[in-house]
Amino acid sequence: MRAVRSVIVIGGGISGLAAAWQLRGRADVTVLESHTKVGGKLRTGTIAGITVDEGAESLMALRPEAVELAAAVGLGNALCDPAKAPTTVWTRGALRPLPAGHVMGVPTDPAALAGTGLLSPEGVARVAAEETLPAEPLTGDCSVAGYLTARFGREAVDRLVEPLLGGVYAGRADSLSLRAAMPRIAALAEQGGPLLPALRRTRAAGGPRAAAVAVQGVAGGAGRFPQAVAAACGARILTGTAARSLHRLPGDRWRVQAMTDDGPLTMEADAVVLALPAFAAAELLRPHSPLAEAELSGIAHASTAVVTMAFSRSRAHFLPEGNGFLVPPVDGHTLKAASFLSNKWAWLHAAAPDTFVLRASVGRIGEDDVLARPDRHLVRTAIAELHHAVGPMGEPLAARVTRWDRGLPQYGVGHRDRVARIREAASGLPGLALCGASYEGVGVAACVATGRAAARQVLLAP
Ligand SMILES: Cc1cc2nc3c(=O)[nH]c(=O)nc-3n(C[C@H](O)[C@H](O)[C@H](O)COP(=O)(O)OP(=O)(O)OC[C@H]3O[C@@H](n4cnc5c(N)ncnc54)[C@H](O)[C@@H]3O)c2cc1C
Repeated sequence: MRAVRSVIVIGGGISGLAAAWQLRGRADVTVLESHTKVGGKLRTGTIAGITVDEGAESLMALRPEAVELAAAVGLGNALCDPAKAPTTVWTRGALRPLPAGHVMGVPTDPAALAGTGLLSPEGVARVAAEETLPAEPLTGDCSVAGYLTARFGREAVDRLVEPLLGGVYAGRADSLSLRAAMPRIAALAEQGGPLLPALRRTRAAGGPRAAAVAVQGVAGGAGRFPQAVAAACGARILTGTAARSLHRLPGDRWRVQAMTDDGPLTMEADAVVLALPAFAAAELLRPHSPLAEAELSGIAHASTAVVTMAFSRSRAHFLPEGNGFLVPPVDGHTLKAASFLSNKWAWLHAAAPDTFVLRASVGRIGEDDVLARPDRHLVRTAIAELHHAVGPMGEPLAARVTRWDRGLPQYGVGHRDRVARIREAASGLPGLALCGASYEGVGVAACVATGRAAARQVLLAP
């Protein structure tokens, strides 16, 4: 095994920073980040003088990677649960709770579903009929809609599953992969047999873990997380530094050419970690692996925008309860979700008790026409639809639009095989590893896991 003494991590989002953390004390690490700040999609901004998240606002707590790293870098006391409130869906003219026990919108209990009003009586009956339908074991991959429509009917997919896929992936059930986007459901489908009893058994076996809080926030904003990792990892962090090209050197070393505000920069290291969105990794890999470049370029990305608004509590006509809602595309609204930040996060309410902050999200894959609208148009649309969904709140004190161009990779049918081909192609490049949201999960916890795995990979390079 060759000694890896120096590593360049390209991309200072949470994946790259997790890689740098994993490498601390084992190699001399430099992180190159093109933006003026590290963090990528984890970023805070201010509205009406209040600090809020503009990108990701919560960390998955059902899997340990993100919350463990947050605690390790000194944020343990800042981790906090969201307010207890059901996830609601704005559909059929009202906000309706997702049924207890659902898995990514897939119901486990038709009786509980019936009480929510999410589906018509025929839609609920179709869900209940799933238990009686024969099901061959799933082989290969298929779209989420392809599998779940056959099991539960289109109405369930449209009004239960689509809102969650829109929220997590900004994606659509017709094109997302069952195996990559809903691995828990795919694992049950592989066994064959109806899903409803299998889901109920899994839920019963899950015990307290199944009932545990699914996500946690960070007091002061989840955007503090990458800053804390950057501070604790001991790496040299170069912001405003965009990697432009990669060159292989004799002895399997790497040279990176980058552009900074002060001009070009050239660095060399024993290994590189590409912690970039797939399209950016594809650019750098073009001269080295046409196969990896082609496969990475084949991963589509959805653009989204977050409209954050602050209302005066004393002047608003009305303030909504609950943590927010999801919206199915079938109803034809522009919003895909709203998060009532001041209700959801106690730290935010404590920081700004006189102000009510919420954020609305727009933009799923294929909705570029929505995102082409100017900011003020998106703000007006968000206000109008929020009034429609929850009640007339009046005018905000302040509003801002944060655009996430190509912000969320789409795990299309066959994504896992594509990732295997990318990893196979990259394995022909000693001292190079890939990590980030494009591979094994878009959530922050999955990104931390890929970052740490990439670091281990370069350290173990033969
Ligand atoms: C609006 C939004 C809300 C989300 N909400 C949640 C949530 O609540 N919970 C959750 O778990 N997940 C959420 N996600 C998903 C999650 O935040 C992201 O998938 C994750 O943060 C991606 O991390 P990353 O490090 O892989 O990529 P990124 O955050 O994209 O980081 C990549 C970094 O590379 C930099 N870069 C790009 N090109 C170059 C180059 N050539 N040279 C140097 N640097 C470069 C970029 O500037 C960026 O900082 C959300 C995503 C979005 C867009």
